[in-house]
Amino acid sequence: MKTFEQIAELERRYLLGTYNRYPIVLTRGKGVFLYDLDDRRYLDFVSGLGVNALGHAHPRIVKTIREQAGRLIHVSNLYYHEYQGALAEKLCTLASGSSGDGSSGEKFRAFFQNSGTEAIEGSIKLARLAGHRAGGESKSRLVALEGSYHGRTFGALSLTGQEKHRKGFEPMLEEVTFVAQNDIEGLRAAVNDSTCAIVLEPIFGEGGIYECSVEFLRECRAVADRHKAALIFDEIQCGLGRTGTMFAFQSFGVTPDIVAIAKPIAAGLPLGAFIAKEEFANAISPGQHGTTFGGGPLACRVALEFLAIVEDEKLLDNVNKVGAYLQQELKTIVEKSAVAKEVRGRGFIQGINLEIPARPIVDEALAEGVLFNSTHDTVVRFLPPFLLEEKHVDKGIRVLKKLLKKKRKAAA
Ligand SMILES: *Cc1c(COP(=O)(O)O)cnc(C)c1O
Repeated sequence: MKTFEQIAELERRYLLGTYNRYPIVLTRGKGVFLYDLDDRRYLDFVSGLGVNALGHAHPRIVKTIREQAGRLIHVSNLYYHEYQGALAEKLCTLASGSSGDGSSGEKFRAFFQNSGTEAIEGSIKLARLAGHRAGGESKSRLVALEGSYHGRTFGALSLTGQEKHRKGFEPMLEEVTFVAQNDIEGLRAAVNDSTCAIVLEPIFGEGGIYECSVEFLRECRAVADRHKAALIFDEIQCGLGRTGTMFAFQSFGVTPDIVAIAKPIAAGLPLGAFIAKEEFANAISPGQHGTTFGGGPLACRVALEFLAIVEDEKLLDNVNKVGAYLQQELKTIVEKSAVAKEVRGRGFIQGINLEIPARPIVDEALAEGVLFNSTHDTVVRFLPPFLLEEKHVDKGIRVLKKLLKKKRKAAA
């Protein structure tokens, strides 16, 4: 087998220099653990950035992939296969289930693509069509939030409210207005009859785990209704179980018109989707949008299996229970440590904000056999697999405490 140095050197020579990787090569995984070249074990609080919600090598996922790979991987969207409609039915049914705000029973339709950023592109394309239909060509403006993250393609990047991601790639889509998260007055001022969509993450992921308030989300709903704009939730990171409900909007009790999902849906295979209420979905006609790979038989069948496993193994209950435990433990750290400021998020999407840079903590946790992730400079982000147990939380917390203590001593 190649050594770490040989593997890293190949990448240094032949890959675009976009990634600042941690110095380990991962070779296999099992449940909540990953293993490197030397078979050293790591407890996984990252889940491949929220993708591996079922952990690694889940037996039912492995079996499904093996079986389906031997039958049919891809057919294009020229033909029918068994699984795309079935997956759409499942997701639309889950989306129209109890949302706590009386709007249950809403009818949705789905479109499948290959990634999160594509799900955002599709969502805003649909919102433009519906906007033009409702208010003419000038109904095309988009409202998004400062500090948000929606992906790397031009549409999604234009909605991403962070200079560091946009810099160097201008011009963006011109018709985007940014509002501060939870700024109700700013929202009211930004949305008007030429707005076709308000786009937001109910919980900022990459942007540092900041939650939208229920009050703000309700106002977004009201303002979108008043101006016949689409309310689009980007649940690519916070959706599909991470907040303890199948859709994050069900945790907040505000139902969007369009919801974008991706990361965990096909257990690591590339799949993204958006789900739109019928009245928006019917703005599109054959030929107006499409994809070669999106919604293929392998990815869709695996996604159906993912959703079945979440139900069969009662993983949402686990997210709620162990998520609450994680939060309580993180809060104890904030109470006791001078370098930890605040805990944010819920369920299995949480972050602890530090007084010091987070990346060195993440680097040093590697040597302790724990994978954390840092975001927004000072935030350690937790996106663990839904299988995580309290004993795993204990291990992660023990390591975090130890490293924070060390940093504090070094600073003193
Ligand atoms: C990851 C992410 C995206 C982009 O998804 P990709 O699959 O990387 O294109 C968009 N929005 C949010 C909230 C995300 O976390």
